[in-house]
Amino acid sequence: MPHDLPLRAWVELDREALAHNVAVLRRLLPPHCTLMPAVKANAYGHGAVPVARELNRLGLQAFCVATAQEGAELRAGGVQGEILVLGYTHPQQARLLHQNHLTQTVVDHSYGMALEAQNVPLEVHLKLDTGMHRLGEGSDRVDTLVPLFACRNLKVTGAFTHLCAAGTASPEDRAFTLSQGRAFCTALARLEAQGCPIPKRHLLSSYGLLHYPELGGDYARVGIALYGVLSSPADLTRCPVTLRPVLSLKAQVAQVRTLEAGEQAGYDLQFTAQRPTKLAVLTIGYGDGLPRSLSCGVGAALVGGRKAPIAGRVCMDQTLVDVTDCPPVAPGDTAVLIGTSRGLEITACDLAKETGTIANEILSRLGARLERKWR
Ligand SMILES: *Cc1c(COP(=O)(O)O)cnc(C)c1O
Repeated sequence: MPHDLPLRAWVELDREALAHNVAVLRRLLPPHCTLMPAVKANAYGHGAVPVARELNRLGLQAFCVATAQEGAELRAGGVQGEILVLGYTHPQQARLLHQNHLTQTVVDHSYGMALEAQNVPLEVHLKLDTGMHRLGEGSDRVDTLVPLFACRNLKVTGAFTHLCAAGTASPEDRAFTLSQGRAFCTALARLEAQGCPIPKRHLLSSYGLLHYPELGGDYARVGIALYGVLSSPADLTRCPVTLRPVLSLKAQVAQVRTLEAGEQAGYDLQFTAQRPTKLAVLTIGYGDGLPRSLSCGVGAALVGGRKAPIAGRVCMDQTLVDVTDCPPVAPGDTAVLIGTSRGLEITACDLAKETGTIANEILSRLGARLERKWR
């Protein structure tokens, strides 16, 4: 990973920002609860192995991922500790789970029995549905899970649920979230009353930890907040702590050209110079995860400490920006797509707002072609 040759387009990671976020989020943890960072989708685009290894160094010993393959990649990269696969894994992949010492989520009785039938010893966490109606057995039907505790191969080491309305302050969403917390507790008590112990319980993700730490649990599965980002700008006003973005997205200036007034540029000639115009060609495009909807004046890069608006359509591998109002720009100069430059900042949240999505999507789509390096 560390790399001294100039790069084409890259993700730059701020180690101090990550340590800062870990520290402030740890202070919010309820008693006996530890962080279980979500490093799925390549750690929200940051780079799963470098991020998880750094988190290991900061003392974190539990992670969650979306797929068994993601878990195996962490192990291949030397990541230590518990790794919980949150998503569905085909039972025939049981060996992959076992070989990599991954904990698999069990979503209902029949899935658990299918895993058991693979004849591979596995640790599992039970997923309970308390209202999101995505994965998991209904929390009012946990009796159906009791036989899983008698399995020879499966060892139930935990149970969890997912809050789906913890991010807003509306009284309805608050009441719903609290009802999810109660349903989870009731279900676990029912299992215990039938002789089914649940060593680890967890229900908080980023917004749960920020707004409902009183719901407790043994793990907080934090993703977006750990990366120092919230889903949308409005959420910042309600955030009880100051988070620092870990990621910057950068590219190079490949070429600079001048257009006369009236000349056009880019696919479908969507840019027309209204005046003599200097365009810089950047070495990044939608093939790297820069959204194509950032075209034609929507979105900008920071070049030479100024905002350079995106000119015409973002291409797969390249993007034109208008640097007419920037200080002199030359090939090899760095352009910032996400991050800061001389007091100016473009956040993942800004891109999300401009493209009608949340920062989580912008980050998790940052592509495999980008190199990841610590600042
Ligand atoms: C992705 C995910 C998380 C992490 O969510 P953030 O909002 O990014 O903190 C936690 N739990 C589950 C089940 C998830 O799928």
